Amino acid sequence: MAFATDAAERDRVGNDGDDGLDDAWRAPDGGDPPEELAIERDEPVARYTSFRIGGPADYLARPANPEALRETLAWGRAEGLPVTVIGGGSNLLVSDRGIRGLAVVYRSERAPIEVDERGDEVRLTVPAQRMLSGVGRYCCERGWAGFDWAVGLPGTVGGAVANNAGAHGTEMIENVDTLTVVMPDGALRTHGRDWLRARYRHTILRSPVLAERPVGAFVVSVGLRLRRGDRDELLALAEEHAAWRKEHQPRKPCAGSIFKNPPGTWAGLLIEEAGLKGYQFGGAQISPLHANFIVNVGGATAADVLAVIRHAQRVVREGRGIELETEVELVGDWRL
Ligand SMILES: Cc1cc2nc3c(=O)[nH]c(=O)nc-3n(C[C@H](O)[C@H](O)[C@H](O)COP(=O)(O)OP(=O)(O)OC[C@H]3O[C@@H](n4cnc5c(N)ncnc54)[C@H](O)[C@@H]3O)c2cc1C
Repeated sequence: MAFATDAAERDRVGNDGDDGLDDAWRAPDGGDPPEELAIERDEPVARYTSFRIGGPADYLARPANPEALRETLAWGRAEGLPVTVIGGGSNLLVSDRGIRGLAVVYRSERAPIEVDERGDEVRLTVPAQRMLSGVGRYCCERGWAGFDWAVGLPGTVGGAVANNAGAHGTEMIENVDTLTVVMPDGALRTHGRDWLRARYRHTILRSPVLAERPVGAFVVSVGLRLRRGDRDELLALAEEHAAWRKEHQPRKPCAGSIFKNPPGTWAGLLIEEAGLKGYQFGGAQISPLHANFIVNVGGATAADVLAVIRHAQRVVREGRGIELETEVELVGDWRL
């Protein structure tokens, strides 16, 4: 490990010298980004996550459309910066140290949806930056069936595809027909749904296995296939889903289910049976309403949340011999 030991050495390796970090860990300094890209420096990520937690990103961009996105990614590539994709930030635990390199927040309600109606079938091309719940409601209002489950679910269409999000017995992959991604070299590619290799809350886009993950692939639009249904019934279903969430899910800042459900049981049930509802460390608490949610009761740090995650995993492992796997994704600079 090469540490910066004096001012000259610190300048040489680009460290600020206050943390004794190996410079190999650092993202290169990208210099000043072009003004037209409106990229912010040292921008706190907490304001872009539903947990309201996360330290600063070296660079943070919020491109409004695929053209701006490609220019942003081209700049990051030219500067050699690692890229972190954030959609709605509703399934992320961003470290207190923040994100090294370039964080790209891709969400917008303005991007237009393209519609192609063929008899009883409706094909939609939905920009990845649209919020999922809004698209769910948009479909119900037009009497297009199959996407009501998405009403009330936080996050973007892009994030829902990457996570294969789901609710009420359905998951995203059941609606996806195709998806278009920007690759790190800027090329646009359209793939069929099988490319995602989706399973429960998993696709290759968020695979921890690097050999499988198409690193840097950025979803820009998704082709959905729906069918005609009864508008009133669909709107009633949407209301039911929204009411169910209000009753069963906490309202404090959180990131949804912390753990995936192990085969044959529910993570929330295991945590509740272990007597952990209400367990708190710092500002992070296992929700008294739903044991698979950790809430930020005020001033929680990412380290607080991680401590609660580890505690719940340990207690369930020791009590039941079951390993709880996180559904929430740890993102950013987690060096201790
Ligand atoms: C109150 C609450 C309730 C929730 N309920 C549910 C639920 O019922 N079911 C469920 O499945 N989840 C639920 N979640 C979790 C979360 O809402 C979903 O996982 C959601 O689909 C994440 O979307 P996002 O845009 O916020 O993604 P983010 O959290 O921003 O990112 C998640 C992953 O997707 C990647 N990603 C995001 N956008 C893109 C893109 N355009 N291209 C490539 N990769 C991308 C990110 O890099 C990351 O790997 C809940 C969360 C909250 C806060």
